[in-house]
Amino acid sequence: MSWARSKTSWAGPAAGARLPDGPAGTEGMRAMEVTASAIRFRESCAAARTAGQAGGFVPTMGALHAGHARLIETAKGECGFVAASIFVNPLQFGPAEDLSAYPRPIERDRETAESLGCDLLFVPSEAEMYPRGLTEVTVDPGPLGDRLEGASRPGHFRGVLTVVAKLFDLLGPGRAYFGEKDAQQLALVRRMVADLNMPVEVVTVPTVREPDGLALSSRNAYLDPTERAVAPVLFEALSDAAVRVRGGERDARVLKAEMARTVGAEPLAKVEYVAVVDDMTWEEIGEIAGPARALVAARVGPARLIDNLLLPWQPGPSVQNSHDSAANEG
Ligand code: AMP
Repeated sequence: MSWARSKTSWAGPAAGARLPDGPAGTEGMRAMEVTASAIRFRESCAAARTAGQAGGFVPTMGALHAGHARLIETAKGECGFVAASIFVNPLQFGPAEDLSAYPRPIERDRETAESLGCDLLFVPSEAEMYPRGLTEVTVDPGPLGDRLEGASRPGHFRGVLTVVAKLFDLLGPGRAYFGEKDAQQLALVRRMVADLNMPVEVVTVPTVREPDGLALSSRNAYLDPTERAVAPVLFEALSDAAVRVRGGERDARVLKAEMARTVGAEPLAKVEYVAVVDDMTWEEIGEIAGPARALVAARVGPARLIDNLLLPWQPGPSVQNSHDSAANEG
């Protein structure tokens, strides 16, 4: 892994990304520090706090795209010191999943993080995060960890919460930015922080999409052009559910059946689940009577894609998102 600062290694933004051209005026901008050391990450976050700066943290698995960029930009807008991490966490991948294939364009990511004004990039090795080998002591996500994504990916959320807890411990008191794209993960992180009294404020950042609605994801890189053309069907199904709710549909079974039908109509797409949940409790519901979230997971070619949308259960001009819902405390 090379940290050489050669601009020639800049391969341009990830597919679909709309990233800034580069640092907008370098005066007054600190050079980004890159570290693989957990102790150094902890020290830098602590030093920023001592200097009176609010610390913002954006955990990622890398292959940075405009969704990650939005998280970092949001953190930059709210915090004097912004750290991001890149760690493809083996603990959250199942044995048959894409751990070894997961994209790792580390040099391009470093350039991207720096161009977005990150102060610190933490890029630990597996040995740095799990010095005794994969940890025996883990965070139990509770019942929500076994449903929906958790049912499709057994052990996934235990792995996610364990690594997030470790990262939060290094961060110390601060703010952490997560994407609504992974809404169940976000709900579980919020529950962990509340249940385990972690001194971290969790901030929700709305999903960044391609113009055709496809949610940006590092896994979109697995799609060939034909599959890429099909992939927006997930958002199409969710948007259709939102339109139906706005039109007065309250029966979640109808919404689920229609979502499954829309995605299933694409021969290249294989539905894993569709669901409509109460956005507070994450229980599946039969009737829309309050903030509810529609979810879909499907395989498109080699990629497993997920997406979700908060349903506009109240009369209004547009689909609600995380900014106008109080429902993100799930
Ligand atoms: P990942 O690298 O996939 O683990 O994602 C790191 C963070 O970026 C998570 O909080 C994700 O929810 C968030 N994220 C991923 N894709 C998007 C997107 N399209 N829009 C907003 N946030 C995203």
